[in-house]
Amino acid sequence: MIEQNIVRIKQRISIACSKIGRKPEEIKLIAVTKNRSLEEIEEVIRAGITDLGENKVQEAFLKFDAQRAAQGAQRLKWHMVGHLQTNKAKDAVRIFDLIHSVDSLHLAQEIDKQAAKINKIQDILLEIKTSPEATKFGILPEEAIAIFKEAAQLNNIKVRGLMTIAPLVDCPEKARPYFKVLRELLSELNAGRQTQDAQRILSMGMTDDFEVAIEEGATMVRIGRAIFD
Ligand SMILES: *Cc1c(COP(=O)(O)O)cnc(C)c1O
Repeated sequence: MIEQNIVRIKQRISIACSKIGRKPEEIKLIAVTKNRSLEEIEEVIRAGITDLGENKVQEAFLKFDAQRAAQGAQRLKWHMVGHLQTNKAKDAVRIFDLIHSVDSLHLAQEIDKQAAKINKIQDILLEIKTSPEATKFGILPEEAIAIFKEAAQLNNIKVRGLMTIAPLVDCPEKARPYFKVLRELLSELNAGRQTQDAQRILSMGMTDDFEVAIEEGATMVRIGRAIFD
């Protein structure tokens, strides 16, 4: 069932892309495996998924270790998509390839400090609160540019783009304005940038709204229920 679900999601991604002339290869499908078992994780990997999203550091750690023990050198990418407490930054930098949920300068500074200790440059996204009701966490759009500029000064983190969670709405079309805010904010960041490397990642879109997110420019979609339920 998981495999069929993934096939179906990939078809839906292709259709959404073809509507607006994007290429499906531009979209990274992240399987959000929070609360899912190791068996379920193995099934998504067998179905060709390479990117896993988790929302708790401790749970991710257990799965990371188990996965490594079972699969040896197999290369998976681990994404932190949930709220990260400052005191968990030390553990987070050890396993995550990309931390999507950096919601304050303080957290960015702590990740930088912990990444420096292990000689890592940690890729991060800034989580933007594009709606008041979706989550407690996130940087307000009007604060984003200033925080981005500060974060860009830190040596051991690299801001790769932006992430948002749209509010729960009764039809996916209603999530569009929030995705649009994120896309426009990313353009603004890139327009003002001083260096060569543009921020390119837009992490937005979940089970209920990923097609609309793709139409608005998502490069990563984070999907749980449509894969597992
Ligand atoms: C759980 C979760 C997802 C996946 O949500 P679904 O609706 O199950 O697809 C995506 N992003 C974040 C931040 C999550 O916590």
